[in-house]
This record gives sequence, structure tokens and C-alpha cells, in this order.
Amino acid sequence: MEENGVITVTSPLLPDLDEFNKLLKEIWSRRWITNNGDFHKQLETELAAYLKVPYICLFANGTLPLITSLQALRITGEVITTPYTHVSTTHSLWWNGIKPVFVDVDPVTCNIDPDKIEAAITPRTTAIMPVHCYGTPCDTERIHEIAGKYGLKVIYDAAHAFGVEVGGESLLNAGDLSTLSFHATKVYNTVEGGALIMHDAEMKQRIDYLKNFGFANETTVVAPGINSKMDEVRAAYGLLNLRNIDAAIEARHQVAIRYREELRDIPGIRFLDELPGVRHNYSYFPIFVDAEKYGMSRDELYFSMRERNVYGRRYFYPLISTFSTYRGLESSASDNLPVATRISDSVICLPMHHALSQNDLDRVIACIRR
Ligand SMILES: *Cc1c(COP(=O)(O)O)cnc(C)c1O
Repeated sequence: MEENGVITVTSPLLPDLDEFNKLLKEIWSRRWITNNGDFHKQLETELAAYLKVPYICLFANGTLPLITSLQALRITGEVITTPYTHVSTTHSLWWNGIKPVFVDVDPVTCNIDPDKIEAAITPRTTAIMPVHCYGTPCDTERIHEIAGKYGLKVIYDAAHAFGVEVGGESLLNAGDLSTLSFHATKVYNTVEGGALIMHDAEMKQRIDYLKNFGFANETTVVAPGINSKMDEVRAAYGLLNLRNIDAAIEARHQVAIRYREELRDIPGIRFLDELPGVRHNYSYFPIFVDAEKYGMSRDELYFSMRERNVYGRRYFYPLISTFSTYRGLESSASDNLPVATRISDSVICLPMHHALSQNDLDRVIACIRR
């Protein structure tokens, strides 16, 4: 790395090119490049074992499993969700003709506030779609209690929660279905890619049909499915990245330790601490700027970092409820979402990836210490 080169917020974990070439040669010799090929099957098996989940279906990206999960469970009407997420969560509802109903978030976890869910339920509500924001687990117990009481399905957008465990158990087993993204910017990537996690073989079968146009066999189409299959090239790439994922997560862990040590005593800078009993994946390192106490606004800090070639990201800003598609919804009113609005206006995700050097971290910290 150059002394003053650009420090990006993320950097993709890439497999060794020679290793990748070996697998490409296998694909070339088999001449089977998509549609549930050998590497696709192998990656499903290895991921299920690594993630400690019973069943997984691979997808071409992380948005299609969200869209498909709603089809698979026949969700209609209204779905309760968080405005503090990637637009993909909300768009997946829109693409299914479902009305998103935004509920405010908890100021500490940035996840949907379970205390506010019941007030948002109407006769048209059919499901809750929470997000494990930054990989921090939602209050799954409370959410399931409410879902049980009102007969609602729960689909977790777990795009940030690859490998996260609570008490030694995968967080991805919570709810009816959980989705993952393997986009280049995520902890674990297959360039583009994603997955759905389910509890039983029947649901896996159903999802496998839905992601392949609804084909059950050569002549039977059982549902209006979509094409969202992962191909052999990405599956091979994914197999190699899986070999290095633990080392990458440990490197991220060390970055988080350094940030916490160095930023703890800066007035007006808040960050998230580790939770007891949770295996974190260190996917993001958000800080929240209290302009009054820090003496500078979030945007002033964000742009001053950029001037020094340190690229953070205001993730998630602006709030989804302010976008033209959604701002007309009753639940988008900012007095319904005071906490999410405050968080969105104060957040910067600091550079966080496996390849940050000590010099990089010195430079990021110097920006914030001023
Ligand atoms: C990245 C992300 C998605 C979308 O995943 P893609 O693979 O980019 O389609 C969905 N939800 C959340 C919370 C994300 O961070």
C-alpha cells in the first residue's frame, strides 16, 4: 500500500488465481456450467456445514432470495420491516406488491424495535421482515413471540450475518426463512451471489423449483418461478473463498479491537460493542457522531476523511422511508421513525476488511482524533 493511497471502506476477499484456474479447468472439462452442477452442489453442502444450518439454496445474488422467500411463503398485504437497511429489503416487498410498514429501530442494536411491532400490526399484516443490521442479532425471541401470537411469518434479511452464532447456534436458523448476500462487498463473497436458509427438505425443494422458473421436471411447471440460479464459475470461486473465510473474519476482528481501543475515549463518538455469547463476523464498523459533543457534524467528518483519502460510507443514509417510492406511506412519517432518522443522520461505517494494514488503521484513527 502507498503511504497516502486511497483506503476504501471494503475490499473483496479474492481466491488465489492459480487455485481458481484449476477449478475452472475442471468446469471446462465437464462442460457443465450452470443448473445445479457439481461445484454448486458441493458449495451448498460445504456452506450448510460451515454455517451450521440444515438446508441452503444458492442464488445469483442477495436480492432474489428476498423476493423468492415472499413467493415461497405466499406473503401478501402488509409486511412489518425496518427502514434502516439496504433498499433491497424494501424493494423485495415492492416487487411482490406488498406494502412495507416501517417500524422504528432500537438505538443500540440498530435493529427493529420489538416493543413497537405490535402497534403496527393490522388485519392485512402477514409477516415481519427484520434485518440483522451489521450482523448484530435481532431480538429473535421477542419477534417470534409476537409472530406466534398474531400468526405471522418471519423472514430475516441476514445479508450481514454470515457465520454469526448465538450461544454456539447459527443465527440463520431463526425465523421461517433467512436470506444471505454474497455480494463482493460482504464478508463472504462469490462476486455476486446469495442464499436462502430453510428448516426442511420440502421447503428446499419448493425454493429450488422457484429459482429455476418453477420447473419440477422436463414438462411440469409448478409455480411462476424466476431464474436466480448460481453458476458453476461463481460456485467454484465460492468454494475457494470458504477456505479462507475464518482467517478473513479473524483479520476483521483484529481491526475491530484496534478501533475500539483507539476510539473509546473520544467524546461524541459511539460504536457498537461485542455482545456476550455472540460469534460476530465484524462485517461493518459503524460509528455514530454526536455533533455537539464531537464538535463537528457527521458530514463534516465524512468529507474531511475523504479529503485525506479515507473513504468511509454513510451506511444507511438516507433512510429508505425518504425515497420517492416509499415517502408517501403513513409509516414513513419521520415522527414514526425518530431513532432510525437520528442514527441515519449520524452514522459512518469506517473502512473494515481483511486487508487493512496497521498504517491504514493509523490513518483512519488520525482522521477521527483530528
Ligand atoms: C447487500 C444487501 C442486500 C442485497 O444483496 P445483493 O447481493 O447486493 O443483492 C440485501 N439486504 C441487505 C441488508 C444487504 O446489506
